[in-house]
Amino acid sequence: EPIIVLSHVVKEFRQRGAGAAGTARAVDDASLVVDAGDIFGIIGYSGAGKSTLVRLINALERPTSGTVSVLGTDITALPESKLRPIRRKIGMIFQQFNLFSTKTVAQNIAYPLQLDHWRKDYQERRVAELLEFVGLAEHADKYPSQLSGGQKQRVGIARALATNPEILLADEATSALDPETTNEVMGLLKRVNEEFGITIVLITHQMNVVQQIANRVAVMSAGRVVECGDVYDVFAAP
Ligand code: ADP
Ligand code: ADP
Repeated sequence: EPIIVLSHVVKEFRQRGAGAAGTARAVDDASLVVDAGDIFGIIGYSGAGKSTLVRLINALERPTSGTVSVLGTDITALPESKLRPIRRKIGMIFQQFNLFSTKTVAQNIAYPLQLDHWRKDYQERRVAELLEFVGLAEHADKYPSQLSGGQKQRVGIARALATNPEILLADEATSALDPETTNEVMGLLKRVNEEFGITIVLITHQMNVVQQIANRVAVMSAGRVVECGDVYDVFAAP
């Protein structure tokens, strides 16, 4: 069952200092379907258009043309007020973790619950559950600066899961980590997918990451989806 559908999506940006006529095409006629339950890899070199694609999926950008549907809703021209319930179903994790340095681990994880006005006791129970799931119960009161990179990303994952999203978007989530820590974080993402049935979209330039945990993959180059299919087929030796 499709959960994200991009159809002939084009995204152009006005180029810096290029005058009115100059535009750059970051995404060029991209079409793809992510099914519910997928771990879907989007792979490509820097500048291929991967981040722009993610920003189109969570409606931080609107396409120049083409359509984007998420969770059964065409969000292409949806007004801002109607995007909020959809964005709440999408969790995000980042290369640089994007944690609040002045908040503890527990406070970072609780932050989306506060925004959502959860009752204090529900917040505490949810944070405890998430700390347990990501294996950081002992570190609840530490600050991000006291954690390793892998631990920081586990906090990022816990925070992204706090409000029970249906989709997790991971933008170069393991790119700042060493190989061993990368494996650890991938193992955790696999559990997120298997235990909670959360669909994961994994943007990366690391082919081994996609080969290890994704079931489907789109290869991007110069804004285009140049290949798309089962990981096994796309990476099969010719
Ligand atoms: P990737 O994530 O694969 O590295 P991006 O989506 O960040 O690729 O960028 C694709 C292309 O679009 C790049 O040439 C980038 O410079 C350009 N681009 C991205 N965002 C903007 C923007 N806001 N304004 C202008 N150009 C942009
Ligand atoms: P990435 O590492 O994903 O390629 P960058 O560090 O290149 O991202 O860009 C960071 C931010 O700047 C993003 O929001 C991106 O959309 C924007 N951006 C990237 N390239 C350009 C550009 N040529 N002109 C304007 N904004 C850009």
